[in-house]
Amino acid sequence: MNSNDSDIVRAVLLNTHKHQKDHQYEEVSTTDEADVVLLNTCAIREHAEMKVWHKITELSSLQTKFSKHKKKQKQVIGVLGCMAERLKDDLFQSGQVDLVAGPDAYRDLPNLLGNLYDTNEHEDGNRSVMNVQLSLDETYADITPVRKYKDDVSAFVSIMRGCNNMCSYCVVPFTRGRERSREMTSILEESLRLFEQEGVKELCLLGQNVNSYHDASAGAMIQQSQSKYQYSTSNDGFSNLYRLRGGNGGGYFFADLLEGVSNISPELRVRFTSPHPKDYPPELLQLMAERSNICNQLHMPAQSGSNEVLRRMRRGYTREAYLELIENVRSTIGEDVAISSDFISGFCGETDQDHADTIDLMERVVFDQAFMFAYSMREKTHAHRKMEDNVPHKIKKQRLAEVIDTFQHLVQRKNEQCEVGKIRLVLVEGKSRKSTKQDPQLNGRTDQNKRVYFKNEPCSISGNEFSSRIILNDSTAATSNGDNNKNNIVRLEKGDYAAVLITEARGHTLRGEALWRTTSTDFYSDHGIDIRRSADVGLRTNI
Ligand code: SAH
Ligand code: SF4
Repeated sequence: MNSNDSDIVRAVLLNTHKHQKDHQYEEVSTTDEADVVLLNTCAIREHAEMKVWHKITELSSLQTKFSKHKKKQKQVIGVLGCMAERLKDDLFQSGQVDLVAGPDAYRDLPNLLGNLYDTNEHEDGNRSVMNVQLSLDETYADITPVRKYKDDVSAFVSIMRGCNNMCSYCVVPFTRGRERSREMTSILEESLRLFEQEGVKELCLLGQNVNSYHDASAGAMIQQSQSKYQYSTSNDGFSNLYRLRGGNGGGYFFADLLEGVSNISPELRVRFTSPHPKDYPPELLQLMAERSNICNQLHMPAQSGSNEVLRRMRRGYTREAYLELIENVRSTIGEDVAISSDFISGFCGETDQDHADTIDLMERVVFDQAFMFAYSMREKTHAHRKMEDNVPHKIKKQRLAEVIDTFQHLVQRKNEQCEVGKIRLVLVEGKSRKSTKQDPQLNGRTDQNKRVYFKNEPCSISGNEFSSRIILNDSTAATSNGDNNKNNIVRLEKGDYAAVLITEARGHTLRGEALWRTTSTDFYSDHGIDIRRSADVGLRTNI
């Protein structure tokens, strides 16, 4: 989210010359060269904020050093994002920060910086500017983000901002404000442009509660008859009083949007994050099952496996409802779908039994990826006002270690059993970090969002030749085989799709061998088998 927001900030500042009164900005590659340093921050846990404080201290100590020798003017240090929203003018107390701007105030940055410079020129002393106004409708829809990594084959598209859920531990509703969705037409336009003009092959739709998306703008309401979907929660065990109170109300829901983006091209992959488990209605799962370019992967943050903890967290579901949803997901999309989760260890009042329930839930589901955290009390939240952060630090850490260990152990076993030997569609993202001239290595992600590393060896141009090569179990067979001429051999490049045989599992990352270059369309229809659906392709066994 922050990295996408930084692309919006980049767009706002790099385009300031359009307004004559504004200063002009250009991006530099090191902080030493910069007149202005902006830190886009997270406030979700104390640890995230500590990192920002360290960075601020580091910057201002460097600055004192530089200003003595080189710079005439003090470097501006600005704090953006959730920490800015949470701490507001408290950030000025240390005397190190000059600018504070919350997540809905990025359009105001040229103005804030202008004021800062004007003050500085005249008063040459204390200076500080701040805008932490939250908005009910800001989505930055009309701002085209300037991507930092322009050549990346995948890109984020922000579709909604804020959160109305008020989970009792979470600061996000206070730092990001109310839920609001960007108009579907503007999302489709940006997605099309990224695919057609910027060579993007994979989009990740982005938001705090991405699947709670609801475009209720005037345009969408007029078109509401075109919306195929009605609002419902994932199953009866999930509550969403906020949405249901407002009724269905027309407009476009997440399934409408996902369908629209996936219609752009079968060669464009679509993912989304971060979703809430309550908003996976059956028709959304059905759509994911039908479309091979909607990735075979979904995030479903459980947070805890204990009903009592889930109730105190105000998550709006029980472990039974969650497990039923997992079953629906697997029976609708297929057993091959990858499911990831978030967990919090040591929430207020968590007992050994609650913790054991979480481990039990992990064992029942067997997640493909997990993000696991020790509970960190945040001011303003319901838990801060009404509960006691009473699990000792040492116990929190012990339980977290056990949760991490359980995940790693299970994912290793799952990947060994379910990934090794399969042929997966991988979108090549580029060279891997360990790649050398002698040993060129590529990496990319599977449909299931698992990272795969593989040698950049010549591979076949299509699936037709690969079988002879594998049967001979000889990586040079395709070149030496008389049926294959040299023109059929290619080197994979960033942005290519490749059929990769998975050979090894290392935790949640994989190693493999590229077999042939392909397209998403060909891969999923190759040899008359729907490879994605029949998880056990059996090609390895045939060999
Ligand atoms: N909207 C998403 C999550 C966004 S925050 C959802 O509801 O699932 C990302 C993750 O940070 C959360 O899923 C949660 O696991 C973690 N988190 C949030 N607040 C936290 C806190 N106070 N302490 C520890 N982890 C927290
Ligand atoms: Fe935080 Fe809950 Fe909103 Fe997720 S749904 S951002 S955890 S309040």
